[in-house]
Amino acid sequence: DLDSATAPLPSVSTSNIERRWSDITSYAPKKKVQSWFQLPNGNWELGKIISSSGTESVISFPEGKVLKVNSDSLIPANPDILDGVDDLMQLSYLNEPSVLYNLQYRYNQDMIYTKAGPVLVAVNPFKAVPLYGNDYIQAYKNKSIESPHVYAIADTAIREMSRDEVNQSIIISGESGAGKTETAKIAMQYLAALGGGSGIEYEILKTNPILEAFGNAKTLRNDNSSRFGKLIEIHFSETGKISGAKIQTFLLEKSRVVQCAEGERSYHIFYQLCAGAPSALKEKLNLKDVGEYNYLKQGNCYSISGVDDSEQFRIVKEALDVVHVSKEDQESVFAMLAAVLWLGNVSFTILDNENHVEAVADESLINVAKLIGCDIADLNLALSTRKMRVGNDNIVQKLTLSQAIVTRDALAKSIYACLFEWLVDQINKSLAVGKRRTGRSISILDIYGFESFDRNSFEQFCINYANERLQQHFNRHLFKLEQEEYIQDGIDWAKVDFDDNQDCLNLFEKKPLGLLSLLDEESTFPNGTDSSFANKLKQHLKSNPCFRGEREKAFTVSHFAGEVTYDTTGFLEKNRDLLHLDSIQLLSSCLCHLPRIFASNMLNQSEKLVVGPLHKAGGADSQKLSVATKFKGQLFQLMQRLESTTPHFIRCIKPNNLQSPGSYEQGLVLQQLRCCGVLEVVRISRSGFPTRMSHQKFARRYGFLLLENVASQDPLSVSVAILHQFNILPEMYQVGYTKLFFRTGQIGALEDTRNRTL
Ligand code: ADP
Ligand code: MG
Repeated sequence: DLDSATAPLPSVSTSNIERRWSDITSYAPKKKVQSWFQLPNGNWELGKIISSSGTESVISFPEGKVLKVNSDSLIPANPDILDGVDDLMQLSYLNEPSVLYNLQYRYNQDMIYTKAGPVLVAVNPFKAVPLYGNDYIQAYKNKSIESPHVYAIADTAIREMSRDEVNQSIIISGESGAGKTETAKIAMQYLAALGGGSGIEYEILKTNPILEAFGNAKTLRNDNSSRFGKLIEIHFSETGKISGAKIQTFLLEKSRVVQCAEGERSYHIFYQLCAGAPSALKEKLNLKDVGEYNYLKQGNCYSISGVDDSEQFRIVKEALDVVHVSKEDQESVFAMLAAVLWLGNVSFTILDNENHVEAVADESLINVAKLIGCDIADLNLALSTRKMRVGNDNIVQKLTLSQAIVTRDALAKSIYACLFEWLVDQINKSLAVGKRRTGRSISILDIYGFESFDRNSFEQFCINYANERLQQHFNRHLFKLEQEEYIQDGIDWAKVDFDDNQDCLNLFEKKPLGLLSLLDEESTFPNGTDSSFANKLKQHLKSNPCFRGEREKAFTVSHFAGEVTYDTTGFLEKNRDLLHLDSIQLLSSCLCHLPRIFASNMLNQSEKLVVGPLHKAGGADSQKLSVATKFKGQLFQLMQRLESTTPHFIRCIKPNNLQSPGSYEQGLVLQQLRCCGVLEVVRISRSGFPTRMSHQKFARRYGFLLLENVASQDPLSVSVAILHQFNILPEMYQVGYTKLFFRTGQIGALEDTRNRTL
């Protein structure tokens, strides 16, 4: 019984990647051979070719279904013997369905890690898998296990750090909920186990619960979503022991403090504090139930299944002890949190028919004043008026209701963001590394991945910009450097194209007519609005192929990972991120020390970073660098730091959107694999010679293994002698002008012999 499903089949993708692959494999369906066929729902099904004539093939599927299809729509499948190989490079046919199937095959057996050439792919299991702990750490250390793992990556990083005395980095990327933060912790666990001894490793591990409490929140995508980016640089002594660490954070999502979507929560620490504070502390801070606070009420979500907030609070306090935050400071931290919560409950009464307001002197206002240590009347003034300079006179202007609410929320956000920064500073003091640069550090980067939602705002704009930069680093490292090195060294190697994203980066960074410059320019205009910004973009960038103006206030950018449409609503306000001088002055007048520290940090920053008055309303506002510009600066610094390290890449994959174990959605996985260039990497690595060493180094490293005495010979001759003695096949290496190039895995045997001999 033949169903006929003849071509053309629109659902069969013919992306560039596949076309290039088919060039390599030039596939003609043969009888009895397994083949992939794409179903109308986009999933791939494995079938056996029964017959093939000209452009048509008949294919049978496991449940007895038989289809007649266009031969061009079939993609070759690998023989069963290659099922579940642990490096995608080993696949004979390297097409998308084969890669998807291989990852799924392994995933179904809890083998969540797979190599894609030099990159580790980690598929989130959404359940505990028995792959971690001390026994596994020892096994990877002794190399008695070879299967791909985060531990193996961390181990390589340690080894290369000691061998080459070059700083290393482990760069973890992936969508929200893909497992980046867990993966970073697993890597830290390994480094701590191998470099432990001084006790500082314990402190380093304890920074995780603290930063997660203050910087993570439940979102619709992830119950423990990091709302900031993080780089932790772990330093080692000459003997390989951890000597200290330094944490840098990026772009904390401030807006979550004052608003969050239905079903989401604000930062964990608020719920932990309310649930876990001992009664004396509760009384002191006048803490109520979470449901009493406006900032926490909006999400209409107070708990996370499987999480005990009060137990978490205990863990956070213990961790704060470990990183030497004193009990007094801890209490001040909790007071700041309570102040933020009470601020959200401050309400206003309208005084006149111009909508001017003053704050209601109720329990909320009184509590805020008490918690930050200021006068109630001063607080009221700071929230309901603004000092202005008009000509030579200082005047006091009353705020309208909406202005007062914005001012109140800005104060709450600033207090929280400053608190977060202050905590990171305290942690860094506790973990302090001497100034000396050792060349012995491993940095772990856990940063938000590419985001594309139904509605994308300023946060997605910054995050996706960062991802363009990181993608370029990845491309450069794996593709460009690779090619350049081959060409420079005279190696005959077919040039491979890769998707360069320089055009998109130019769209963001070009001066004066790039997205960032135009945003900053519009932000400095007192009358600039989100729509005037959007219009300016459309006017200046309409001919840029990576840009498209949209209706109303929106625009679309063609990112490497796909098109994203941004809604400019709120862009200018978020970019200016102004805290009025009145609020800063209020904080600096407080009796408590934390608000005073916050105020002086803000003032210092404005003095140091002024790029021009961002807001000219009488000069009474703090002048500071725009958020986007500051972020760009941080990003450039980060890239510079990463450029000087040997990178190791881990790509985390989210197999479903339900955060549930056992479900593997092919379409979702494929889209992520395409986004992060994993497929290209495999293709390139496989056709190249990824391992390389200079003639000198090779001769020095392995020369002593030679049976004949070659001391007098030049490095090249020694190298060639080694290659011969160890019977390395000619197709497995190439001799360049300065270096030897090897296919994957070739150096391993030599290293083993060397280690046994030493
Ligand atoms: P991301 O940082 O990429 O947003 P997370 O690291 O927070 O994602 O992971 C989201 C959730 O997925 C975790 O809270 C955990 O439940 C689960 N998860 C991730 N990696 C693992 C792992 N290796 N083993 C078990 N569960 C994991
Ligand atoms: Mg995270």
